[in-house]
Amino acid sequence: MLLREVEYARPSSVDEAVRLLAASDGARALAGGQTLISVMKARAASPDVLVDLGKLDELRAISVSGDVLQLGAMATYTQIMASSEVDVSRPILAEVSAQIADVQVRNRGTIGGNVCSNDPTNHLPPLLVALGASMTIRGADGERSVPAEEFFLGVYLTAVGEGELLLSVSVPAAANAADGFASITIGRDGTCIASAAASLSGSEVRIVLGCVDAVPILVAPGAADRDSVREAVAGAGLEPPSDVHGSADYRRHLASVCAVRAVQQAEERGR
Ligand SMILES: Cc1cc2nc3c(=O)[nH]c(=O)nc-3n(C[C@H](O)[C@H](O)[C@H](O)COP(=O)(O)OP(=O)(O)OC[C@H]3O[C@@H](n4cnc5c(N)ncnc54)[C@H](O)[C@@H]3O)c2cc1C
Repeated sequence: MLLREVEYARPSSVDEAVRLLAASDGARALAGGQTLISVMKARAASPDVLVDLGKLDELRAISVSGDVLQLGAMATYTQIMASSEVDVSRPILAEVSAQIADVQVRNRGTIGGNVCSNDPTNHLPPLLVALGASMTIRGADGERSVPAEEFFLGVYLTAVGEGELLLSVSVPAAANAADGFASITIGRDGTCIASAAASLSGSEVRIVLGCVDAVPILVAPGAADRDSVREAVAGAGLEPPSDVHGSADYRRHLASVCAVRAVQQAEERGR
């Protein structure tokens, strides 16, 4: 289907982008376009102004400063996979980016677009909550930092408000971190129907489930053994959706399977 008519702007600075986004209620940031253009074609979204972030090279940077890995919102999955900074400071981000869809989507899709769309089937929201990431957002009133746990508010709804721009995602750098990720997808490179990310640190076990609610669900079992993980997932009161790909009961079961696998992977990495 053809797009309906829409104004288009390609700012050359972050300040200009924020100004353009704040100037109109119907303005939306355009990153890789892999979700936004599809929903516009389906008439599920119809912004009046597209603010294309493509010229903002400062939003593509990936850097490590002290013990923080900072990923610009416009860093693509392909960039994350090839980044030596990611490789030495939190390699799970590259591994999971490599599991997203196909090469075309990975070349265009960005970490910022992935988290700002907050599709519950997306790979990165549960992972970033498990890793204890934080998001830097800029609006007309300045910048603020929001922990990933508070960033995801609902389906396609995040802490990035009208007229605001996500600048970057910061992740604690830890080269040998005990991180894991597991998913069950529709087909080999398909959408997740269940996913779980895990991060172990000392006696703390953080497991975050995807696809079972509008937002990633954090569960924290007291220990990393299989029974404790299953018990924690069972006790989380999950009410996942039921659809053509699986009933709610089946998704609950898959959430538990993915959680156990993600924790096992994390334990192997941490050895
Ligand atoms: C065939 C196909 C299969 C896919 N499979 C998967 C999958 O298995 N797993 C997965 O995780 N994803 C999948 N995706 C989604 C893909 O990862 C998208 O790239 C991602 O969801 C959106 O990123 P984007 O850069 O394309 O953002 P866009 O589509 O440009 O934007 C998405 C939304 O985020 C907003 N936005 C983007 N950047 C910013 C910013 N910096 N500040 C404020 N708002 C912003 C936009 O306004 C828009 O509302 C798939 C996409 C396709 C087309």
